[in-house]
Amino acid sequence: MKLTFLGTSSGTPTRQRNVSGLAVQTVLGADWFLIDCGEGTQHRLLQTPLSLHDMAAVCITHVHGDHCYGLPGLLASAGMGKRTKPLKLVAPLPVWEWFQATRQLTDLHLPYEVEHVDVETQPLVYEAPGLRIERHVLRHRVPSHAYRVQVQTRRTRLKTDALKATGLPPGPAWRALQTGEDVPFNGAVLRSADFAETQIDTASAVMGGDNAEPALLRDACQGAQLLVHEATYTQDVLDRVGPGPMHSSARLLAEFAQSVEIPNLVLTHFSARHQNEEGMTQLMAETQAHYRGNAFLANDLDVFELDSAGHVTVTRA
Ligand SMILES: [Zn+2]
Ligand SMILES: [Zn+2]
Repeated sequence: MKLTFLGTSSGTPTRQRNVSGLAVQTVLGADWFLIDCGEGTQHRLLQTPLSLHDMAAVCITHVHGDHCYGLPGLLASAGMGKRTKPLKLVAPLPVWEWFQATRQLTDLHLPYEVEHVDVETQPLVYEAPGLRIERHVLRHRVPSHAYRVQVQTRRTRLKTDALKATGLPPGPAWRALQTGEDVPFNGAVLRSADFAETQIDTASAVMGGDNAEPALLRDACQGAQLLVHEATYTQDVLDRVGPGPMHSSARLLAEFAQSVEIPNLVLTHFSARHQNEEGMTQLMAETQAHYRGNAFLANDLDVFELDSAGHVTVTRA
């Protein structure tokens, strides 16, 4: 699974960071998924190799503008690019109603169908062979959600030692066994089931929306290898700001991530006041004081690649 951060700033864009947007690609094919679409997300996408023709669904976490104001512009551009493939818009109902109103009031005619999936009523929001996207409910000033993306791939491995022992020479007969065919050899039949084993690899990542209570993701994080979550403030600043905005601190998030022992944690959605070297150093120090896994602070256009063994590599788009 590959995650490309398109925006990592909370509330308003800054010179280095746009508001929320995260592209998710899988090994299953060209289809990719956009989680949140703050204003300007389409400009960030132009800096990546991602095509709007292959965007299978947009999943909006909540109705706040820094997570959805980019939607009409992005979908209009996809239409001008002559997209025809239907698109799923997974979102709370108000986002859908606002999009519908914008479409009518601004004379926007899309050459493709947009189907609304109501995130409030449907826990399994997207399903395709090998792929499941589930939503999990969070706590924020408005209904907010996390998305858990699970990708399963099958691999068939040959038991080469056992095969060598039969004397069957490597080549087409080995490949036949690997693809499920039985092979006659030396007056007997070598059965595929005895010489090939299928292994299912699973990669799962949880991507949170705005949230004051990371512990709500306890179930979602079971078996997941990566959590992406907001850490708008350090604990100090959160204590001063008070609970009103309903965001998380790096400490709150790190303590939760440690409690579920998730191996990789990516922090994002940073308040502008932390967006300098000192602020970033503080956020990282606070995280590492409470979490022993691999912690990362996301930057715009960072690409995180998660393999099925749970390892993460970071590159730039
Ligand atoms: Zn936000
Ligand atoms: Zn919000």
